[in-house]
Amino acid sequence: QAERLAQALASLNEAQRAAVEHGVGAAIAAPDERPLLVIAGAGSGKTSTLAHRVASLIAGGVDPQRLLLLTFSRRAAQEMERRAGRVLAQVLGLKSEAPPALPWAGTFHGIGARLLREYAPQIGLDENFTIHDRGDAEDLMGLVRHELGLSSTVNRFPRKGTCLSIYSRCVNTRAPLADVLKEAFPWCDEWEAELKKLFGAYVEAKQRQNVLDYDDLLLYWAEMAAEPALAAHIGARFDHVLVDEYQDTNLLQASILLALKPDGRGVTVVGDDAQSIYSFRGATVRNILDFPSQFTQPARVVTLERNYRSTQPILDVSNRVIAQAAERHAKTLWTDKPSAGKPLLVLVPDEAGQARWVADKVLAHREGGLALKSQAVLFRTSSHSAALELELARRNIPFVKFGGLKFLEASHVKDLLAVLRFAQNPRGRMAGFRVTQLIPGIGPATSARLLDAMEQAADPAQAVREFVPPSAARAQWADFAKAYEALREPALKWPADVELAMDWYLPHLERLYEDTSGVRRADVEQLARLAAGYASRERFLTELTLDPPEATSDRPGPPLLDEDYLILSTIHSAKGQEWNSVHVLNVVDGCLPADVAQSAQELEEERRLLYVAMTRARDHLHLLVPQRFHVTQQAARGDRHLYANRTRFIADADLEGFEQQTWPPPPERPPAVPPPSSVIDLRNRMRAAWR
Ligand code: ATP
Ligand code: MG
Repeated sequence: QAERLAQALASLNEAQRAAVEHGVGAAIAAPDERPLLVIAGAGSGKTSTLAHRVASLIAGGVDPQRLLLLTFSRRAAQEMERRAGRVLAQVLGLKSEAPPALPWAGTFHGIGARLLREYAPQIGLDENFTIHDRGDAEDLMGLVRHELGLSSTVNRFPRKGTCLSIYSRCVNTRAPLADVLKEAFPWCDEWEAELKKLFGAYVEAKQRQNVLDYDDLLLYWAEMAAEPALAAHIGARFDHVLVDEYQDTNLLQASILLALKPDGRGVTVVGDDAQSIYSFRGATVRNILDFPSQFTQPARVVTLERNYRSTQPILDVSNRVIAQAAERHAKTLWTDKPSAGKPLLVLVPDEAGQARWVADKVLAHREGGLALKSQAVLFRTSSHSAALELELARRNIPFVKFGGLKFLEASHVKDLLAVLRFAQNPRGRMAGFRVTQLIPGIGPATSARLLDAMEQAADPAQAVREFVPPSAARAQWADFAKAYEALREPALKWPADVELAMDWYLPHLERLYEDTSGVRRADVEQLARLAAGYASRERFLTELTLDPPEATSDRPGPPLLDEDYLILSTIHSAKGQEWNSVHVLNVVDGCLPADVAQSAQELEEERRLLYVAMTRARDHLHLLVPQRFHVTQQAARGDRHLYANRTRFIADADLEGFEQQTWPPPPERPPAVPPPSSVIDLRNRMRAAWR
C-alpha cells in the first residue's frame, strides 16, 4: 500500500506533498501536530491538495466518521468526496472507484444544523426546528415589525429586508448594533432604539415558533462551542477538521474552529486572500491572515505558486488585475502549460451583440471538439444573462444557470415544502400560515386563530381536528385535518410523507394555478423524486433550504444529466470551478465594478471578483465589453441605455496582454461617388400638374 500511496502522490509537487503529508501517518494527530494553512493563488491545486490529504488520512487509518470537512457548497462537498474517492481507490488498489462516504462533509450551515439537532436537548432547543431561508426570515421580520407598529409607510422606518440585513450583520460580525449602523447603515442611525426592540422581539418570535434562520445556525453553533464541556465533546468526535475556501468565512466560523480545536491539532484550512468575495455577507479575509497565530501552537504555512489550470497568457492578465490590489499576500502564479494564444478582449456594440458573439463562439468551440459542458459564461449579476438566455434559446443551445432564480422560490414548491415543514414543526407560523391559506374559505384571521390554538395544545393534530372553521370551509377543513394527522403519525416512514403531502396539495395546485398547473405539477413531482434521495424528512428539509437546487421549470432547463449543456453562472457561484473556455460578460464600469460598489473596500472586492472570474479559465478566456448596456432602473425612472467604458481594473498598460477585437468589424465604405449636378427642378413639374 505504501508503494501505491507514493504513486498516488507522485503527481503532486513538493509543496503540495508537504501539505498532504503534514502529520499523516498516525491515525490520530500527534499532540504536537501544528495546524496547517495552505495559502495560494487560483488554480494552484488547493482543493486537490485537500482531497489528497483526505485520502491519505483515510488510507493511514483515520475513520471517515472522524473527519469534519467544511466546504463552500454542498456541490463542492460532493466534488471533494469524488476526488478523494478517486485517490483513495488508487491507494487501496480498488478497481471500482467507490468513494469513501464522508459523512461529515458539508457546508458550515449544513453541518451546524445537524449538530444542533443532535445536541438540541443540551442547549434548550427543540430538535424539530424549522430553518427559515432569507425570504421566510424577511417575512417574519416584517410581521414582527408590523406588530410593534413600526411601519415603513407611516414613519419611514427601514424596510423589512434592510432590518434583516442589519440584524444579520450584527450577528455575523459580532459587532454591537450601534457600530453596525454607523459603519454600514448610517441612514438608519436614528432608529437604533426601535431596531433594538425589533430584534429582541424577532428573536423571541423565532423561539416561540421553534425556527432558526441561516445566521442562527452559525450563531447557536458558535455559542454551543463556547461552552467548554460541549466544545470538548464535539471537538473530540473529530480527529481532523478541514476547511476549503477559508478566505470566505466570517468571524463566527473562525470562532467555531478555534473553540473546537483550541490547540489547532488536526486543523487544515486552505484559501486565497485574493479571492475573497463574500465580505458583503460578513466574511473577513482577516480569518486567513490571522490563522497562523490563533491557536496555542503556531500554524505551519504552505504556499503554492505553480498553477495547473490556466495558460501563461491567462495568468499574465489575471496577475496584472490582482497586482493592483491594495492588500494581499504577494504571489505570482506561473505555469508551464502550453498556451493557446492571448485572451480576447472583445468590443461589441451592445448586449444583443454580446449574446450573438458568445453564442457564435460557443458553437465554434463545439465544432472544434469542446463539449458545451467545458464552456462557461460568467457574469456579475444574475440579470446580466437575460439577453444571452434569449439568444441561446433561439438557437437551441441547451444551458443551465447557476445562481439565478432558485427552484425553492417558485410558489408551488414553497407550498409543498410548507406542508412538510408544518408537519415537522407545528409551531412554525410561516409554514402554518402558508398551508392554511391554501384552503378555500380560510382567511388570515382564521389561520391566526388556529395557530394560536395549536401553540397552546399538547397535541397539535388534535387541535387541528377540533378546530371549528367558518362553515363554508368545513369539508375542506376535514380533508386537511385528516392529512395533517397522517403526516404527524410517528410511525410514518420517509418519504411516504411526500406522497401524503402531494395527495393533499395537488388538487389545490390545480385550482390555484389553472393554466400553468402542468409545469408546476412537474416541479412538484421532481421534488418528490429528489426527496427519495434523502435519509429523513429533517435531512431533506434542512439541506434543501441550505443548498437549494438551482433551476425550475419556469424556464427551459434543466436538461438531463447526461446531456451536454452550457454553464451560465454568476461569478460568486463559479468559485472553485474551472472550464476550458470562459466568457465574462459586461466587463465594463458599472457592471464590474458594479455601480453599487462605492467605498474603496467595496471596489477592492469587485476587483477580486474579476480576478476570480478570469482565473476560472483553462485554455480560452474572453472578456466582453459592450459599448452600450441596458440598465433597469427603479420603476419610477424606467429603463435606459448607458454608454459604457471598459472596466477600470484593466488599465491601458494591461491591454498588451490581450488580443483585441471589435465586432462586428467596421464596414468597409464603398468609395463615395459624387451625385450628378442638378438635372431637373421637380418643383416646376409639381406646379405644372395644376396648370
Ligand atoms: P481555486 O483557487 O480556483 O479554488 P485551487 O487552488 O483549489 O483553485 P484546484 O481546483 O485544486 O485549484 O486545481 C486546479 C487544477 O489543477 C485542477 O484541474 C487540478 O486537477 C489540477 N492540478 C492540481 N495539482 C496538480 C498537479 N500536481 N499536477 C497536475 N495537475 C494538478
Ligand atoms: Mg479550490
